[in-house]
Amino acid sequence: MVHKRSPLRLVPEAVAQPTAPAASQRLGAVELVPGRVRAAVLSMAGRILERIETSYDAASATPADIDTALTETAVIFAAHELTGIGVAAAGLVDPLTGLILEVNDVPGLHGYPVTERLGELTGASVRVEHRARLQVLGDRWFGAGRGRRTFASVSTGEVLGVGVLYDGEVLAPPGGRSGAHMTVSASGERCTCGNRGCWKTVATTGWLRARAHTAGLGDRASLASLVSRGDEPAGRIVQEYAQNLALGLVNVQQLFAPGLFILHGEAREGGEGFRTVVEQRLRDAVAFAGAEQPRVLVSEAAVDDVALLGGAGLVLSYL
Ligand SMILES: [Zn+2]
Repeated sequence: MVHKRSPLRLVPEAVAQPTAPAASQRLGAVELVPGRVRAAVLSMAGRILERIETSYDAASATPADIDTALTETAVIFAAHELTGIGVAAAGLVDPLTGLILEVNDVPGLHGYPVTERLGELTGASVRVEHRARLQVLGDRWFGAGRGRRTFASVSTGEVLGVGVLYDGEVLAPPGGRSGAHMTVSASGERCTCGNRGCWKTVATTGWLRARAHTAGLGDRASLASLVSRGDEPAGRIVQEYAQNLALGLVNVQQLFAPGLFILHGEAREGGEGFRTVVEQRLRDAVAFAGAEQPRVLVSEAAVDDVALLGGAGLVLSYL
């Protein structure tokens, strides 16, 4: 299934990857999330050469304050010859108009024309996409998804989400989300969105911490601390967490059969045992012979870099 209206249509490889890019050419990336703006200059191979970060008050910032934060970070682009800038933004975005439509708890970003502002500041071509859906492009150009036309990239930890590259295109239909609020339980916990049983309620750090607390394993348990305990109660929670994460991924596999799932974030703390549980659950869900056996890989990219790599991938795909 390919959404014809998908704003993220990838251009052919031969066009997107210049055979002899000038050594001086750079990729720009910006991450815009509630309270924080990060920017980076990357090599054409996805190496972060320079970075900068600034903060703003999410609740009270006006559009002018956001302008200021962008101006402060855009200074790192001044000395570089940029192919373009890719913006990884939180919330609902419209890549075609370059607007951020809505971000929970950041009124100043509603309707904010981020590509226009950055374009004025830098003179570069700018494109924006939703942060969680974008990281698949980082994997596609610079990570374990290189050479593949179909795979999924998964955020784990405090933020949960899936980006799917399908036959060379990011599945990013207008109004589509990143999967955190897929219903995985008919009578589950109430979610922050108001519904019950969202994937997010059973497969994020918040769930893990609460579960460990209930089991008497402390108030500040992390996946890493539970794995290193190595005892039976901790092991059981780690297994359950992996199964819960797999719940949402099984749905994605059923719908799109991406075959490869690249996990970012907290999953890395779970080690090989955690990865294997998720992978096995996905393999159990493949109902027919002939489908690619699902594989799960854990990204080695630093969590802080994932959105920036996605932004750089957006430049290579579009600009
Ligand atoms: Zn929800």
